[in-house]
Amino acid sequence: MEQFWSGSAINENKGMVDNLQRYGIITSRKVAEVMETIDRGLFVPGGRQPYVDSPMPIGYNATISAPHMHATCLQLLEKNLQPGMRALDVGSGTGYLTACFALMVGPGGRAIGVEHIPELVSFSTENIQKSASAQPLKDGSLCVHVGDGRQGWPEFAPYDAIHVGAAAPEIPQPLIEQLKPGGRMVIPVGNIFQDLKVVDKNSDGSISIRTETSVRYVPLTSREAQLRG
Ligand code: SAH
Repeated sequence: MEQFWSGSAINENKGMVDNLQRYGIITSRKVAEVMETIDRGLFVPGGRQPYVDSPMPIGYNATISAPHMHATCLQLLEKNLQPGMRALDVGSGTGYLTACFALMVGPGGRAIGVEHIPELVSFSTENIQKSASAQPLKDGSLCVHVGDGRQGWPEFAPYDAIHVGAAAPEIPQPLIEQLKPGGRMVIPVGNIFQDLKVVDKNSDGSISIRTETSVRYVPLTSREAQLRG
């Protein structure tokens, strides 16, 4: 007997991605595929609604970004997340985007997370282990480090893609330096009112910056200032 679908086939993560496509936020097939493969539900602390389009608290005065922001950043960075490329995720929090980056760059690429709250680094590592990016974590093509992301992560620089998940008062110079010519950084800049900036490093090393949209992120700051709230 033919059965097109049953209740159990209705996956909520897939439903979230369908909505992102319906509202025109995801237009890329690749980004849809990656967000379908990495289950956001594994990255949102228990009791919260992972598939709702809203940021959610993850402790330590931090939040996981809303699905539409994750989708927007993945799309803005898609050309810089091709197989074999290197990606840096600053303020990696839950590890969700780092896990998505690892799938996009594949086993020959690198996805590096930097997060300054050690407990969140442990949390993100556990989340990634349960996800479709468990293998890259095992292989070492995905790695999450404890550190001050304002310094970037020089070990694997230069990067094709840099994502910053917290708002900086201004663009940290080390991050510009660690961007490859042809590379792109997506970073929220500002204090209360913030703009999501797209920073492209041209082949001659010069920088082009444009504003994508207005956003509201937690600050890129010191660990002490963040924990004080
Ligand atoms: N993309 C992450 C965003 C988490 S919120 C996600 O969706 O899960 C921003 C994160 O930036 C927080 O986890 C916070 O602890 C971290 N952060 C803030 N300032 C930082 C800094 N100077 N260095 C590293 N991480 C920082």
